[in-house]
Amino acid sequence: MNPNLAAFLYLVSGVLFILALRGLSSPATSRAGNRYGMIGMTIAVVTTLVSSQVWPGLDIITVFLIVLALGIGGGIGGVVAKRVPMTSMPQLVAAFHSLVGMAAVLVAFAALYSPDNYGIGTPGHLHAQSLIEMGLGVIIGAITFSGSIIAFAKLNGNMSGSPILLPARHLINIAIASVIVLLLVIFIASGGDALWAFWLATLLSFGIGITLIIPIGGADMPVVVSMLNSYSGWAAAGIGFTLQNTALIITGSLVGSSGAILSYIMCKGMNRSFISVILGGFGADAGDAAAAGGAREARPVKQGSADDAAFIMKNAGSVIIVPGYGMAVSQAQHALREMADFLKEEGVKVSYAIHPVAGRMPGHMNVLLAEASVPYDEVFELEDINSAFSQTDVVFVIGANDVTNPAAKTDKASPIYGMPILEVDKAKTVLFVKRGMSSGYAGVDNELFFRDNTMMLFGDAKKVTEEIVKAFGH
Ligand code: NAP
Repeated sequence: MNPNLAAFLYLVSGVLFILALRGLSSPATSRAGNRYGMIGMTIAVVTTLVSSQVWPGLDIITVFLIVLALGIGGGIGGVVAKRVPMTSMPQLVAAFHSLVGMAAVLVAFAALYSPDNYGIGTPGHLHAQSLIEMGLGVIIGAITFSGSIIAFAKLNGNMSGSPILLPARHLINIAIASVIVLLLVIFIASGGDALWAFWLATLLSFGIGITLIIPIGGADMPVVVSMLNSYSGWAAAGIGFTLQNTALIITGSLVGSSGAILSYIMCKGMNRSFISVILGGFGADAGDAAAAGGAREARPVKQGSADDAAFIMKNAGSVIIVPGYGMAVSQAQHALREMADFLKEEGVKVSYAIHPVAGRMPGHMNVLLAEASVPYDEVFELEDINSAFSQTDVVFVIGANDVTNPAAKTDKASPIYGMPILEVDKAKTVLFVKRGMSSGYAGVDNELFFRDNTMMLFGDAKKVTEEIVKAFGH
């Protein structure tokens, strides 16, 4: 293929990737965004294959192997993506990132051992720039791979979500990182001859990926997954320079920067500094708090039935619905929309309040509400709706906990202190739908359950909501 045409097609795919990100920023345009991304990726893959310098000489077996690899990878990806429940999305993303990291490592090794195929010199005589790109690509790729595997295991319950705090872990990490940098310098100074340094740097990078992620608690894992997503993007961009592939440089940079922005948004939503997340240990407090929760005194709470909830909401002027992780677990969004439809028919003003870190990943609640065809103009972000709670009759909190916990504002010792919350307690009545008195993800008690204007509706979120709909006489 003419190199100018290839460059043009890479540019087209880059523009499509940017449109994809733009589309994914709102539920209304997310499907179109996904389609742009798929078309862009198809153009990029086909262009790479057709413009490959070795393409004209490819034998039928190699073509067959490429098509087979695409079929197996695409097939597994399609099936897994279709089957995975929304609540397991963070671990799926972690698993996919590990593959991106490993791909970066393998490409770097392939380029090192057969540089002539990549146009970056001959064995032992590689361009210095390529050596730097390869070195950075392999280090970031290896950290991404092993770090993502640990993140997957923690999120998937294969290993404890509590932080595993090695003694002197910061010193160990600094020591390993220094040795990796030293090995990289030796490798580059040798003109690519010191293969042992490259191998050793790779192995140590796999190791530091583990020691960096193991001390981080489950509560911070989604931030870590997003950070690893960012790393995998930078690794891909680094390899893109080695391969002189514009599409890979553009895609890698987009993934790298969007992952970094997402990590920042999550940290801001939880009022945690990025550095404190990376240094780990947050889940330790959560674990302690959860353990303390087991010994908590039995305080009386006001408990209501679905009939009580139906009566209160039917007679309200306004209801704000606050969904959280429990709604996602029980898949209550469709029943919830039915309930809201009925209330609207009765003349009740219904809105939805979304906290930026409700659920287990950014946008988790928006996706579920969109799936149930909740109108977008009824859904509000925290800063747009917080002032409305004080003029609201009823707040229906369904499977949310931490995002409403006033301890975030009042208790300096609480691990969630400083996190912005939805100020549901300012409403006249607060209905809490949850199965029992358990704490949320951060493992801290919620004082709101014991307030006079709170009524607990114990049960599975979907079941309770369906009972309320039934109680409406539907
Ligand atoms: P949450 O604080 O984890 O609370 C969820 C509540 O849902 C639990 O207290 C649980 O109580 C209840 N529940 C679970 N299954 C249920 C079911 N089937 N039916 C009814 N209730 C059920 O959730 P959240 O308020 O959405 O807060 C999210 C938490 O995740 C925050 O701590 C946030 O910092 C953290 N986080 C989120 C993100 C993100 O990007 N979204 C990222 C990192 C961390 P019972 O067991 O008593 O039912």
